[in-house]
Amino acid sequence: MNQTPTIFLQLPPRLAGLEDLAENLWWSWHPRARMLFKLLDRMAWKQSGHNPDCMLRELPVEILTAAAANPEYLRLYDEVMTQFQGHIEGQQCAYLGFPRRDRDFAVAYFSAEYGLHRSLPFYAGGLGFLAGDHLKECSDLCIPLVAVGFMYPEGYLRQRLRDDGWQENQDEPLDRDAAPISRVLDKEGNQVVIRVPVLEPAVHVAIWKVSVGQIPLYLLDTDLAQNDPDSRKICSRLYIGDLENRLRQEMVLGLGGAEALRALGINHYLMHLNEGHAAFALLERVRELVAAGATPDEARERIHRSSIFTTHTPVPAGHDVFPNEMIERFFGSYGEKLGLDREAFLALGAHPEHPGDGFNMSALALRLSARTNGVSRRHGEVSRRMWQSLWPDLPVEDVPITSITNGVHVPTWIEPKLQLLLDRYLGPDWLANHDDPAAWAGLDGIPDGELWRAHYWLKTKLIDAIRERARQRWLNDGASPSLVMAGGALLDPAVLTIGFARRFATYKRATLILHDRDRLKSLLTDPSRPVQFIFAGKAHPADDPGKRLLQELVNTARDPAFGGRIAFVEDYGEQLGQYMVHGVDVWLNNPLPPMEACGTSGMKAALNGVPQLSFLDGWWEEGFNGANGWALPHEERDGDRDSLDAQRLYDTLADAVIPLYYDTDDDGVPTRWVQTMKAAMLAAGAPFSARRMVKEYAQEFYAPALQEFSQKK
Ligand SMILES: *Cc1c(COP(=O)(O)O)cnc(C)c1O
Repeated sequence: MNQTPTIFLQLPPRLAGLEDLAENLWWSWHPRARMLFKLLDRMAWKQSGHNPDCMLRELPVEILTAAAANPEYLRLYDEVMTQFQGHIEGQQCAYLGFPRRDRDFAVAYFSAEYGLHRSLPFYAGGLGFLAGDHLKECSDLCIPLVAVGFMYPEGYLRQRLRDDGWQENQDEPLDRDAAPISRVLDKEGNQVVIRVPVLEPAVHVAIWKVSVGQIPLYLLDTDLAQNDPDSRKICSRLYIGDLENRLRQEMVLGLGGAEALRALGINHYLMHLNEGHAAFALLERVRELVAAGATPDEARERIHRSSIFTTHTPVPAGHDVFPNEMIERFFGSYGEKLGLDREAFLALGAHPEHPGDGFNMSALALRLSARTNGVSRRHGEVSRRMWQSLWPDLPVEDVPITSITNGVHVPTWIEPKLQLLLDRYLGPDWLANHDDPAAWAGLDGIPDGELWRAHYWLKTKLIDAIRERARQRWLNDGASPSLVMAGGALLDPAVLTIGFARRFATYKRATLILHDRDRLKSLLTDPSRPVQFIFAGKAHPADDPGKRLLQELVNTARDPAFGGRIAFVEDYGEQLGQYMVHGVDVWLNNPLPPMEACGTSGMKAALNGVPQLSFLDGWWEEGFNGANGWALPHEERDGDRDSLDAQRLYDTLADAVIPLYYDTDDDGVPTRWVQTMKAAMLAAGAPFSARRMVKEYAQEFYAPALQEFSQKK
């Protein structure tokens, strides 16, 4: 483990609160709190990667002393600190009358990844951001939730393109002292370390904490000197490919996570599993109740009633399956402690249609959780079909998997300048009430030119940032000229800009637009109404087909025939994601339906006035209303689906998107386009907010489960 001594902060007493503020991610979704750090030293703020903890440690003491004597700074400081403390102490709210945390009750949320901020590289993609947004919104709504996840010390893979366009990954080890995390200490002041039940040889796990407003996120860290070298690496990075290590990882998360909560004195909780990776926690909870004297049936019944499972993907490879032989080898006689013989234990993870495949984590979670859901209406239907065989007596529409459509955390994803514009036209309370469609009624009143100029400024900012990255590659690494061009050096803010940023999983079809190169070329290089594309995204390190798609795209981008109007920007992550959803003109999504369970990046874009162009899949089936973007139909059929889908994409661009964008008034404002922008914001702002989503989880799952749970205590 990294043992660099902590550098203690030397803050002037008048600004002592900055330390607490810096250590709680609450600052990251409150622009005035961010301003408090930025105002100290803009350059240092930028260089720290917007990590206040890191910045404060490096700042010369004179800067802090000057701030402590600046009345204007102090006014902002006092305002922010009052709001921060008021929220952390939770005086304002308690949504749905949940009991307060000090009454020993919580929802325990388990997820293998969390996307919270660029300084915490604990995510791979959408699942992580969904989890991060869930925590932030639970904090805003004062829902008593504790979260469990992994510390991945080698979590971050920086994406670099080789000169032939192939993706390489560079490790960037996490500096635990620079990240906004703290050790969880016991009464003697030592870091809490637990032992993972069942795993042999013994695996010890240290516990760290991230504060997300009121919500504690506990991170499990196996990188301890007392573990053998293999065990130290169990949690070194996300989703290790090798099955045996993957199993050990999931045992740490599920069994170790439950043990960690016990060690922290958290004993009464509902469990919410974000995807099946942590499903062993259900078993450990049953074992605990049996050990405390319940019959196995009672114990299972109680855990079933108090557990919630959210499934996130219709892609079969997204559901972990372990060979039964491996499960038996690792779990030994554990089943007996649950009152189950060998057959019955393995049956918990069997998929009725493919029992020979092994132990399926989603099947386990579905069997042991009474409340389960998919993440869009369409994904709910797909999941009911996919898992019908678990309920052979029920017609498919009665399979007990409902849906709660994902949403995005509005204060995190709305661009701050746009937020100020909305403050002016929607009234000062819009953000506090943003899940009420009425709060957005004032959108119509924003003058078209004003919204357009705000958007154009954000587009310019995005393109400037991309060109600066290309310059750095040219300057520092001697990258080949064509790779610098492909990095976006020739992007032009006046041109209709289409963004596509997501993981390079093959079902997302990043290269669909390349299907007919001549057609594409004529769209890109049209002299009066050109189009440009900005792509970003990483392929999983083990996904060679995904890397090949990426390479094909990059090598097309560097072909002079496309005029520098296709850019591929390296190293997609939270920061680039923010720039892109704020600054492109259109958000493109062309998955192979019905593989996209939801797709939240389009919601982030729409919230910022960036309409979506997408096949009808995931959230778009319920989000598209005819005025807020473009929907491409898709029929399931055999043969070459891509060809027809690509034609539809070109036709929609040529017939609808391009003419609308270039139809401007005398001042150069595309007024009909701006109507589409407003429609996009209106249709996404309230219905696809994390607030709407978390309220649904609370009303439909947490509250009723809590009620049953407390009656039977
Ligand atoms: C929102 C987000 C995602 C998820 O996007 P999808 O639309 O589900 O593909 C992935 N990565 C980042 C950085 C995001 O912000």
